[in-house]
Amino acid sequence: MVHFVGAGPGAPDLITLRGDALLRRADMVIWAGSLVNPELLKVCREDCEILDSARMTLEEVLDAMERAERDGLEVVRLHTGDPSVYGAIQEQMDALRERGIPFDVVPGVSSFCGAAAALEQELTLPGISQTVMLTRLAGRTPMPAGEDMRSLAAHGSTLVIFLSAGHLERLQEELLAAGRSEREPAAIVYKATWPDEVVLRCQVGTLAKTGKEHGIRLTALVVVGRVLDASYERSRLYDPGFATLFRPAHDAGADAHVDGEPREPSSASPGCEA
Ligand code: SAH
Repeated sequence: MVHFVGAGPGAPDLITLRGDALLRRADMVIWAGSLVNPELLKVCREDCEILDSARMTLEEVLDAMERAERDGLEVVRLHTGDPSVYGAIQEQMDALRERGIPFDVVPGVSSFCGAAAALEQELTLPGISQTVMLTRLAGRTPMPAGEDMRSLAAHGSTLVIFLSAGHLERLQEELLAAGRSEREPAAIVYKATWPDEVVLRCQVGTLAKTGKEHGIRLTALVVVGRVLDASYERSRLYDPGFATLFRPAHDAGADAHVDGEPREPSSASPGCEA
């Protein structure tokens, strides 16, 4: 059995309880050594076979998994953050399915959540942006049609940009070409939740300069959006006049809820999770 496990963004205590339990009992761990914190491996059994996928091809990873399965071993495939975001797990899961090797997936805390925590920032603010785009610049992996930075950034939503810290000049150009203002707030978060985390607040027009000054090239996320510096409307969810499934409205005009979603008298939808 192979368990794809999200390691979280860096701090070793940000793996899930389930991921930690699987790591503790694994016979083999294949970990993404370029990004996962090696501290996480301290809980592994002494006789656990540990392989660093940064030095392996997909075929080598699959061969190791196949060998483990033949020997009746339990494998943890440890990916940074959450494996569903730029994790290259689909090709592994599909190959395992073809080979008849059972697997499951344990989610993790993605680095974008780690970055938001480092910034002490909600990414969705009422009246400012209710959408977060997780995206990247084209690198060796090209962007599919319609997903180029210029088109996506033109929506004006909050952007979290992965895998692009080495191309901040191009990123800045594309954001400006999309119509984002030079003065729109932005941030670069390097190694969110690691001991050497760095948070750099800047503006769209100073992204490249800021990254260069601090030598940021890898393991960083760029967050762009007016949420970083905006006066926003308070959330309807905690508004006394707004009825939810768990709390009646305090003003007479508000409707009762009808389902699990918080609801307000108008058709506008409220906003967030309780
Ligand atoms: N699955 C991962 C993303 C892997 S892609 C996740 O959910 O976070 C690798 C990219 O993620 C890096 O280039 C960087 O942009 C980002 N990244 C991963 N860990 C990070 C961290 N601790 N701080 C900032 N960015 C990080």
